[in-house]
Amino acid sequence: MAYVCAYCGKKIKQLDNFVRCTYCGYRILIKGRPNLAREITTD
Ligand SMILES: [Zn+2]
Repeated sequence: MAYVCAYCGKKIKQLDNFVRCTYCGYRILIKGRPNLAREITTD
């Protein structure tokens, strides 16, 4: 399962316990697709 950076949306493969985004350094990663995660808005 791919993880995606919650900030920049880049895919991240390495998973120790908690991995930083190698692109922006953000520490919050999301399981699954970036589209689903990023398109959540308050309806
Ligand atoms: Zn990132």
